[in-house]
Parts: sequence; structure tokens; C-alpha cells
Amino acid sequence: MENDSGIRTRQLGEHLWLVSLEGEHDLAGRDDLRRAISDVFAAGSKLMIDLTEATFIDSSVVSALVDAHEHAISHAADDLLVISPPGSRPRRVLDLNGIGTAVKIYDDRSTALAATGAASSDLARERRQRRLAHNEVLFRKANDQIEHHAQSLGIDERVAFFCECADRDCTERIYATIGEYERAHESPTRFLLLPGHEQPGIEHVTDRTLAYVVVEKEGPGGALAASELG
Ligand SMILES: [Zn+2]
Repeated sequence: MENDSGIRTRQLGEHLWLVSLEGEHDLAGRDDLRRAISDVFAAGSKLMIDLTEATFIDSSVVSALVDAHEHAISHAADDLLVISPPGSRPRRVLDLNGIGTAVKIYDDRSTALAATGAASSDLARERRQRRLAHNEVLFRKANDQIEHHAQSLGIDERVAFFCECADRDCTERIYATIGEYERAHESPTRFLLLPGHEQPGIEHVTDRTLAYVVVEKEGPGGALAASELG
């Protein structure tokens, strides 16, 4: 959403919204700003108001921020964070009005984002996906050894490979030929798993037989697999 008053509203997460102000903001835009704030709070949300691109704010903006702050402290689901770089004109206005003692003011967007906890839950999910992928990569490396060994012996029957699923306790075997194993691993982000060992959310099935499924890793796990095996 953007209008000529220089107020942009953007949803960053399920309960996280960003309202950024660009250019000059005074009494003329007061109603638009207050409406943008109340729209976000109506959804029960954390609100970040970013003043980085604002060149000027007057006391009507300050009072809208103070009112938003008062709303947030009386509504548990709502929170207000203000982003304003030190040394900027808007930051000087905020400092002169002394609202930093009540309203949480952050120097930049990433610091504010970290404070909302949204960034940290994203990080936790990413770490988990990487850990799961790491496990699959270890079994994949073991399987490459098995494949290499079977190849050097000229074995063309089915060979017992380790299941490459994300469960670190799984030591089950998959019986596949060297050809099947190689086809499954044409891409470094693909893994050979026992049927039923796939985990939706970190990977999706690209090929399915009675003996095995081939999955493609997604997201950070895929990136890890590509960098370690690619
Ligand atoms: Zn498994």
C-alpha cells in the first residue's frame, strides 16, 4: 500500500508490519498516519515504524507515535518499534521531545527486527533445516564410498545403501543398483530415502519407487547440501 502522503505499509510476517515514512511529514498527513497505525493494530500486531527515509517530522507525527505507544502498552498482542538513524532530522525531533524514554527507538531496521523476535525464530528454523541436511549429507558421503567400492568390484546387482533421511538415529538400508543410485543423485540437493522417511517442510519427493523415494531439499538445507556436495 502506498499513497501520495509518503506512507507505505508492508506486512513482514504473520503478526509483523512495517510502516515506512518517506519525505516530509506534518499535520497534513496526520490522519493517514494514524489510519495506517490503527489498521495494523486492528490485526493484533507488532508494528515497526521506519523513519529512515523521512526527511522531516513535526509534532503531529510525534504525538501519533506516543498514542501508538500508549495503545501498544495497553494491548498485549500489540507492540511498537520505531526506527530512526542517529543524527537524522527525525531522530533529533524524537530526542528533543524525549520520547525515547518511553517509545523503543532503534537505529536501523535489522536491530529492530532482531528485537521483535521474528528474526530469531527464522534463524532457529534455518539452523534446524541445516542440521537436518547435515545429517543427510553425512550418510550421502558414506553412500558415495559404498557406490565407489561396489563399482570397483564390478557389482551390478542391488547394493545396500544407507537411508539418507534427516533422522540421525536411522541406520536402515536401501537396496538399489549403482545406476539407480547415480540417477537419484544427479543433483547435489537430491537424496535417497526409505519410503515414509521424508519430512515435508524441508524436502519434497521427486521420484518414488517401492524400494526408495528421491527427495529434493528445500531452503537453507538445500543450500547446505549444494555447497557440501556440489
Ligand atoms: Zn531413514
